[in-house]
Amino acid sequence: MLEVTNLVKTYKALRAVDSLSFTINPGEIVGLIGPNGAGKTTSLRCCAGILRPTSGQIKINGFDILTDQAKAKSGLAYVPEVPSLYELLTVDEHLKFVAMCYGTLDVYEERKDELLERYNLTEKRGELIATLSKGMRQKFSVACALVHRANVLLFDEPLIGIDPAGVAEIKQEFHNAKKNGASIVISTHLLDTAERLCDRILIVSRGRLLFEGTLEALRRRSQNQNATLEELFLQITEGDQGAPPPLA
Ligand code: ATP
Repeated sequence: MLEVTNLVKTYKALRAVDSLSFTINPGEIVGLIGPNGAGKTTSLRCCAGILRPTSGQIKINGFDILTDQAKAKSGLAYVPEVPSLYELLTVDEHLKFVAMCYGTLDVYEERKDELLERYNLTEKRGELIATLSKGMRQKFSVACALVHRANVLLFDEPLIGIDPAGVAEIKQEFHNAKKNGASIVISTHLLDTAERLCDRILIVSRGRLLFEGTLEALRRRSQNQNATLEELFLQITEGDQGAPPPLA
């Protein structure tokens, strides 16, 4: 379970995330959507413990990401938009290294062959990470997220640059994780995918939460039962784009 309460993150005079609160329950896939610069990546990086919030609280499975970091992170997997990998490890070494960091070598032993096969990386397992293509790196970072026992999964634009077979595998992975009770957040600009995949939607703009709920609730609110998520998104964010507000 992921609980975010009154999250604020400022960069000098810029309020990139502005009092954001939401909860992601077990067994739920939630789409985090918003215009460029809305604060999605900043929010996910705060949730992953990479950025220190200016204020507010983030709990992963009940553990505070700042004061109980090890316990919080043991349940967390974060797949960034641009994977940050150790270039001079081989694919197999890297996967094993991640599992060692999380104390889950048993998961690595059990899943390594299946994961590499699933993401078409078997023939690359002895190659250096530095030799992987962009899409391969993206798929490999998803495999790394699955080699430990995380039940809070944060994905920042996970489907960009990945071939159709890889996209299908990753979507299936989301469904499997959901079935196993994981709390999953997917930040994406692919609104048709979000519409089909997500149980709930968070729409953010200029660091603020504009809407939280199901597509049905969004349709009811807009009094348009047949509208697509894209149409509703454009409606709700119209006139609310641009840079986040500076600090008062
Ligand atoms: P996109 O959809 O374009 O990826 P986003 O919703 O993920 O956007 P963020 O990357 O979180 O948006 O950025 C939110 C705001 O914070 C933007 O105005 C951005 O310019 C600013 N910002 C992000 N990182 C920094 C930084 N390190 N220093 C200063 N400002 C930053």
